[in-house]
Amino acid sequence: MRKRAAVLLVAAVLLSGCAVFAPSCGYGQLKRYETSFLDVFDTVTYVKGYALSEEAFRKDADAVHETLVKYHRLYDIYHTYDGIANLKTVNDRAGTEPVRVDREILDLLLFARSVSEETGGAVDVTLGAVLSLWHEAREYAAAHPGDAYVPSGEALREAARHTGFGLLEIDEEAGTVFLTDPDARLDVGALAKGFATARAAEQAPAGMLLSVGGNVAATGPKPDGTPWVVGVVDPDGGEGYTHTLEIGRTSVVTSGDYQRYFTAGGIRYHHIIDPDTGYPSRRWKAVTVIAGDSGIGDALSTALFILGREAGEKLLLLHGAEGMWVGQDGTEYFSDGFPAYIRDQ
Ligand code: ADP
Ligand code: MG
Repeated sequence: MRKRAAVLLVAAVLLSGCAVFAPSCGYGQLKRYETSFLDVFDTVTYVKGYALSEEAFRKDADAVHETLVKYHRLYDIYHTYDGIANLKTVNDRAGTEPVRVDREILDLLLFARSVSEETGGAVDVTLGAVLSLWHEAREYAAAHPGDAYVPSGEALREAARHTGFGLLEIDEEAGTVFLTDPDARLDVGALAKGFATARAAEQAPAGMLLSVGGNVAATGPKPDGTPWVVGVVDPDGGEGYTHTLEIGRTSVVTSGDYQRYFTAGGIRYHHIIDPDTGYPSRRWKAVTVIAGDSGIGDALSTALFILGREAGEKLLLLHGAEGMWVGQDGTEYFSDGFPAYIRDQ
C-alpha cells in the first residue's frame, strides 16, 4: 500500500517535472504567451504564461477569464444579470428581504467581515451609503468637469448612520444575506477584485502571471525558475517605475491617491475614504502590499492606505505580508521583509 503511494508520488513528480520544470523533458520548448481582456472588474486584465503551444496557453487563459467573469457578475453592485442574484440584488433588497446567494458571495462577505474586524472598521464593505455619494460626485465631475461638487458634510454624516456590519445579516445555513436598513448599501471595491484574482490564481497552472487592473498575482516563478518582475508605479505620475519587484508565488497590490479621483476647487478627491472622517484619506500617497493571497493583499493595501504605520505593520504581521508606504513628501517606508523583493539595480 505504502509502496504504491510512493510510486504514485514519483509518477506525479515526474509528470509535473516533464510538463514544466526539467530541461531534459523539454521546458526549453515552452514559449511565452500573453493575452488581455477588458470585460471584468471595469479594468484591463493581463494573463501571461509559458506553454508548449498557443492552444494550451489559450485553454488556461480562458479558464482564468471564465472564473473572473463569474466573480465579476456576482460581485457587481451596478448591474444585474439574468438568472443571477448578485450584490446589486442584495443592495436593491435592502430593508426588504434576505436574498439567497451563491457560496462565492457568502465567502466574500465573511472575508469582508473579518477584514472589518481586523482593521477596526477602516476597511468596511458596508460603507456603501457613504461611498456612493463619492462615486456620484466623481461621475458627475467626469461628465461636468467645470461644475464638480464635493458631498456635503451633512450628507456624509447622514449616510454614515446607515453603515456597519451590524446592518448585514449573513446566514450561512440558509445561504442568505440581508441588509436590514433600507438605506444601507454594500460596496466591495476595496477587496473584491483581489479576492476574485486569488480564486482565479488558485485554479491556474503554476508559473502564470495574472494582472487584474494592477492587482498582480503570480502562481509561481517562470518555468526556468526565474521570478516574475513587477513594477511599482510612481504615485506622482513619473515615467517608469520607482521599484521593480521580483516575485515567485505571491501577489502584489497597490492602492494610491492617483488611481481614481476628481478635482473640485483645485483639490483632488480620490477614491479611498477614511470612515472616521467620511473624506478621502490624506495620510499616504500610495501603499504597496506583497501578500500570498491577493484578496488579503487587496484588503490590506486599502487598509494600510488609511491607517498609520504601526497599525499597518500589525496587519502585515498578522498575515505574513510585506508593505511599502509612500508619504505625502515622497518618503518611502518599508516593512522588514519588503526590500528582499526589490530587484538590485
Ligand atoms: P482599486 O480598486 O482602485 O485598486 P482599492 O482596492 O484601494 O483601489 O479600493 C478602493 C475602492 O474601495 C473604492 O473605489 C471604494 O469603492 C472602496 N472603498 C473606499 N474606501 C473604503 C473603505 N474605507 N472601506 C471599504 N471600501 C472602501
Ligand atoms: Mg484594495
